[in-house]
Order: sequence, then C-alpha cells, then structure tokens
Amino acid sequence: MSEPDKYAVIGHPINHSKSPVIHKLFGEQTGENISYEAIDLPTEELHAGITRFIALGGRGLNVTVPHKQDVIELMDSMTLRAEVAGAVNTITKLEDGSLQGDNTDGIGLVTDLTANLGLDIENMRILVLGAGGAARGILASLAEIRPDELMCANRRLERALEIRDELADIGRISARSFEELTDEEAEVGVFDLVINATSAGLEGNVAPFPENIVTAETLCYDLSYSMRETPFVTWAKEHGCKQAVQGWGMLVEQAAESFYIWRDIRPDTTDVRAKLPT
Ligand code: NDP
Repeated sequence: MSEPDKYAVIGHPINHSKSPVIHKLFGEQTGENISYEAIDLPTEELHAGITRFIALGGRGLNVTVPHKQDVIELMDSMTLRAEVAGAVNTITKLEDGSLQGDNTDGIGLVTDLTANLGLDIENMRILVLGAGGAARGILASLAEIRPDELMCANRRLERALEIRDELADIGRISARSFEELTDEEAEVGVFDLVINATSAGLEGNVAPFPENIVTAETLCYDLSYSMRETPFVTWAKEHGCKQAVQGWGMLVEQAAESFYIWRDIRPDTTDVRAKLPT
C-alpha cells in the first residue's frame, strides 16, 4: 500500500485530544488511506511546527486550544465561515501548496444539537459561556439561525463585546461579564440552553458561573469532554438542570466536516459516536 496522507491535530496541551481515534475510524470506514497524529505545540513553536509538518508532506491540520486565533496570520486564505468566526480549527494544504483556514466548530455543534439531540434551537434562549476560539465559531453559526435570544458571557467582558460587534451583521448577540449575569437590574432571565465554551474544565475547574443561569428547564452543553464527568456537567447537575451533555457529539461532527473538506467524502458519524462516551 502507498504511504498514507498525513494529517494531525495541534494544540497545547494535546494529550486530551480524541481526534486521532476519530479520524482513524473515519479512515477505516471510508477506506481512505490516511494517518493522523496529535502534536503538542506551545505558542512559541506554532509557526515552526506547522511549517515543518507541511514540509514533511502534511496535507491538513486540526487546530485546538489555544491556537485557533493565532494560526490565522499563517494562512494564505480563509473560508468565509472561518473569516466570520475569526478562528481556524481546520487547515488544508491546497493543490498550489498554499494553506487555507476553515472553521467546522459551528457546524459541528449545530449538527449535534439539531440532528443528534433533536433540539429546536430557533425557538430557544441560548447563553454561551466563553469568548475564545471555539465560542467565536459556534456563536457565528448560532447567530445565523437567529434563536429567540443569543447571549455571550465571558470572564473578560471586552472579548465578548468584540464578538458581539464583529458578528452584528449576522445576528443579534448580547454580551455580558459573568458578574453581570447576576445583576438583577440587567434582567438576564432564564435560558433554555447554556453552552460552556470556556477551557476552565481542562484544568479540572469550573469557572465561577452564577447559579441563576440554570433552571429545571435548562439543557446544559459542555464543549469539553472527558472519560469522566466534566466539572461543568457536575456543576450543572448540582444546580438542577434538565439535562447535561458533554461535547463528544460536537467533536465527532466537527471532525466529520474536516474529513469531508480534506477527502471530499462525508463519513457516517453514527458508528463513531456510538463508540464514544455520552
Ligand atoms: P481558548 O483558549 O480560545 O478560549 C478559552 C476561553 O475560556 C476564554 O473565553 C477564556 O476566558 C475562558 N477561560 C479559560 N479559563 C477560564 C477560567 N478559569 N475561568 C473562566 N473562564 C476561563 O479555547 P477554545 O475556545 O479553543 O476552547 C474552549 C473549550 O472548548 C476547550 O475546553 C476545548 O477543548 C473545547 N472545544 C470542544 C470542541 C468539541 O468538538 N467538543 C471543539 C472546540 C473546542 P478569557 O477570554 O477571559 O480568558
């Protein structure tokens, strides 16, 4: 058999990543001859690491915490959805050798929420916690659907305000700091769906979210995923949410979209999702 086409995921830390397992399963399912590894790249080695991987024949990369915005300056072109999101999670080496940045986080989450979990997000009040690379991607996709309400809350309010302003042409997003969520005068109200897009859980923490954002009617979705219950899922259950879900489904769906970009064949995610925890 010929040498497999090389792909990888880059991030720091990277030991939590399940992307290699998922892409291996996609490769087996579709018969595509690919290899896929996880590469730990601290920020100071980002540029050199990407250049080296491509020079050694790499065809594409996934990008995870904390590099989704930093890689933009290394791209020769960006897809519209990556441009809108202001974050890249998928890099493709095009035929002319140039690098194109794309973002599949948003479509990955929306597919999981609608196709897999059966949610009618158009009629929901949605709160996204976090304003990093992943939050940008998902807010752009959620804003396009124009839910009843879409709010972004972040530890550093200025980053939430920045996203609100940058995505204003797509849909209305309001921005808050975590403290402002509890401000009675701000009349934040209750949410049908609360999405944790902070990376606090990677260190085993849960960010200081106010208790009032979760009610017995709220579905809580954690972008983070773990073989054990994530801190946010534990927190959400302790605060009486209706249901709490980890981001395994999104992980598989965003990976399927990346695979499709690279190989022009869309894997069936059902079997792969069944092999991962819920
Ligand atoms: P970034 O590093 O770009 O952003 C991190 C975000 O988390 C920022 O909003 C930051 O706030 C916030 N944050 C970090 N630590 C804390 C803390 N201790 N308290 C409060 N807020 C905190 O990361 P990404 O956006 O790329 O990723 C975020 C998470 O989403 C990660 O856990 C990642 O694994 C997960 N993810 C899951 C995917 C899936 O498919 N399931 C896909 C993509 C991401 P501030 O701006 O104030 O610093």
